[in-house]
Amino acid sequence: MNQKFSTLRSSLLAAICSGLVVFANSAVADPLVPTFEELAPGVWAGVRKDNPRNPVMGTATFVVSDKGVVVYDGGGMPLYAERVIEKIRSVTDKPVTHVAISHWHGDHNFGTHPYLEAFPNVQVISHTFTHKVFNSKRIRYIDGYDTGTMEYKETVEGYMKTGKDRQGDPLTPAHRKYYQNIIDDADIVHADAQRVKITQPTITFDDKLTIVSGNRSIEFMYLGDANTAGDIVMWLPEEKIVATGDIVVVPVPYLFNVPPRKFSMTLQNINALGYDILVPGHGKIQRDTAYVDLLIELADSIADQRDSMLAQGLSEEDAKAKLDFSAFEERFTGGDPYLKIFFDGWSKGPFSAAVFKALKGIPMVEIIPEE
Ligand SMILES: [Zn+2]
Repeated sequence: MNQKFSTLRSSLLAAICSGLVVFANSAVADPLVPTFEELAPGVWAGVRKDNPRNPVMGTATFVVSDKGVVVYDGGGMPLYAERVIEKIRSVTDKPVTHVAISHWHGDHNFGTHPYLEAFPNVQVISHTFTHKVFNSKRIRYIDGYDTGTMEYKETVEGYMKTGKDRQGDPLTPAHRKYYQNIIDDADIVHADAQRVKITQPTITFDDKLTIVSGNRSIEFMYLGDANTAGDIVMWLPEEKIVATGDIVVVPVPYLFNVPPRKFSMTLQNINALGYDILVPGHGKIQRDTAYVDLLIELADSIADQRDSMLAQGLSEEDAKAKLDFSAFEERFTGGDPYLKIFFDGWSKGPFSAAVFKALKGIPMVEIIPEE
């Protein structure tokens, strides 16, 4: 009996332990690991594997020529960037000559400085608007990583302990997964944030800039309003590869700060390039236009609904009851409640806010950085 009990206890322990091991593996707190893919000879993308997840981490793309390496979004944290640099060094002995920044949000450029340390002659490219933000107080939000990350971790630990969120609503399994990631990642993010140095661009442009690097021609373009007022894409005309930064985010889009009709036009400009491969700012690499087509359909639908509400003179209250995303939610989330958290926060919420602003006659202005 004792033996039986002991066997039972052992298997129970083994089960618990293996459960713990699985849990520990899935919760390893290192959200700063890129997975690399070669999209065409010498064109690489480093995509963060677990996406979406907080903190989000922009995809790093680099192009190797016979003269050097041109990088588009070097990494959202120093550690992430160092891993990209390690990959670059493993595929070429040529130096990085340029790092382009897609837009000012740190998850795409807080890892720029390690390139300056590794390659002292590197030039940093951005849109002029991004440069303006880098010289404004707005960029100092990195200071909040210092205490903010750990304070938020504590807050979230409180939710997990009580099983209720800030509003007192019970946590769903999807919310638990979301909050657990924040807890697991906080220490490494907090530690790496101490190493961030805001890196100023050395080359800025408004519409288009072409870099000729040996045997390659690399184009940077501003194609219209999107996630910020200065989002630039990288276009490789030979390979028909476009890297879009956060104009395109997979599997659910960022729809902050942009009126839906203008967003649709910017996306149409991207499709007009005629790409074979699209590297989004976050998430899975696309090999056809289906996802961008879906984004355009969403943006047009919300713009059409807004126009009809404006014509009817509806109030914000009416609009709240009427504005309908139901044709799209399932197509972006596949019914996954975890993805729905992000769809609500990144897509539906900000696009609704844009409609409510329009109904109140408040113009949707580009972000103006504080001086
Ligand atoms: Zn981003």
